[in-house]
Amino acid sequence: MTSILSAPPDLEILRCAACGRLDPGPRELCPSCFSPNLEKVAVPGRGALVSWTLVRRPPSRFQADGPYAVAVVDLDCGVRLTGRLAEVPRDEADAPPLGARMRLSGGTAGMPLFAPEAERR
Ligand SMILES: [Zn+2]
Repeated sequence: MTSILSAPPDLEILRCAACGRLDPGPRELCPSCFSPNLEKVAVPGRGALVSWTLVRRPPSRFQADGPYAVAVVDLDCGVRLTGRLAEVPRDEADAPPLGARMRLSGGTAGMPLFAPEAERR
């Protein structure tokens, strides 16, 4: 277990080699200039929680994962992406507040997992 004070792991996203636009991917063409030259870049796994929702009845391919919390995070690099909360909140009061600082804490089912930067106990 790494300390919460250490830097979070980097996250791999896409950057358009033609116009520089960042995108969470996966994608074949840049949504701004339609260039196919998208390259993988690593960005710090830090950002702010925009929204989350609890999935109690997952679609069949994620059935074994449920219940889980899908979260939308605005990364500090300016990219908004969807992942999951590392810990499924018991209820609303147990969840990190919207706008909370989040850090990448791992990944599951090809999706990034986010945990609050600081523990709130
Ligand atoms: Zn582009």
